[in-house]
Amino acid sequence: MKAKILLGISTCLLGKPVRYDGGHKLDRFITETLGQYVEYVPVCPEVECGMPVPRESMRLEGNPESPRLITTSTRIDKTSQMTGWAERRVLELEKENLMGFIFKSDSPSSGMERVKIYADKGTVSRKGVGFFAHAFMKHFPLLPVEDEGRLHDPVLRENFIERVFVLARWRETLAAKADRGGLVEFHTKHKLLIMSHSPRHYQEMGRLVARAKQVPLQELFSRYQRLLMEGLKLRATSKKHANVLMHMAGYFKNQLSFSEKAELLEIIELYRKELIPLIVPVTLINHYVAKYDQRYLKDQFYLHPHPIELQLRNHV
Ligand code: SF4
Repeated sequence: MKAKILLGISTCLLGKPVRYDGGHKLDRFITETLGQYVEYVPVCPEVECGMPVPRESMRLEGNPESPRLITTSTRIDKTSQMTGWAERRVLELEKENLMGFIFKSDSPSSGMERVKIYADKGTVSRKGVGFFAHAFMKHFPLLPVEDEGRLHDPVLRENFIERVFVLARWRETLAAKADRGGLVEFHTKHKLLIMSHSPRHYQEMGRLVARAKQVPLQELFSRYQRLLMEGLKLRATSKKHANVLMHMAGYFKNQLSFSEKAELLEIIELYRKELIPLIVPVTLINHYVAKYDQRYLKDQFYLHPHPIELQLRNHV
């Protein structure tokens, strides 16, 4: 990746003491591990909209369809202060070329889902979205977003980071070669990755690319990008991965010995049964790709979608 990858982030996750109690929520995976490959653009909605540190805590209250942001003991309604600022901030963030956002979970300002809403009759539901997170996701509906809590789940973590890296490569393609040829090249290299998330999107994108000359360029790019980001958001299950691995194994049917084939198929099957991590069959296939100089597979980002040091495919 030539250009730096910029991710928006809730400021307290970087260890900055901006929380209502003067504390922070430093997340070491985000800062020390992922932080080696991305740069962060911090956003603390409560401080940036003019609230002090420390400050009174707040919560979402009222109708779950249109909750208000209320200070917990003095009962001051901060909704318009927050929403007015959030609408201006998302416009400013357009200039940053963000590839995604990592939100702080459970916050009435920054939480992206399942934030508590205290309804009038004392009932509490987990249907809320923080005010800034809501404005951000509405303004950038295709950008990858996650919260730090969900990023502890290895499947969700890989999915988010994979989408960020794919989006970065897509933007790089648009910057370098914004024509039909650039799109075809990008698609060719991402086919198996897309297939591992959604065979349906893979087929639909294939049809769109095949008709590329008949679709106006801007419409082509925007339809392709929407399908790309929607498809990759779907979970790549072990069954879908195993199908992609079997597909790749087919490229070596004339080169592998009987015992090599049997070993590869057995490893794919062990992976399908979730007994070994994805990195095992992927490493073996990478070995055969290099050994037999398999050009098509060598270019497939499926085999190296993100830096191996992140160890995103090492879980069972
Ligand atoms: S959760 Fe959001 S509003 Fe609260 S301190 Fe962190 S960044 Fe600021």
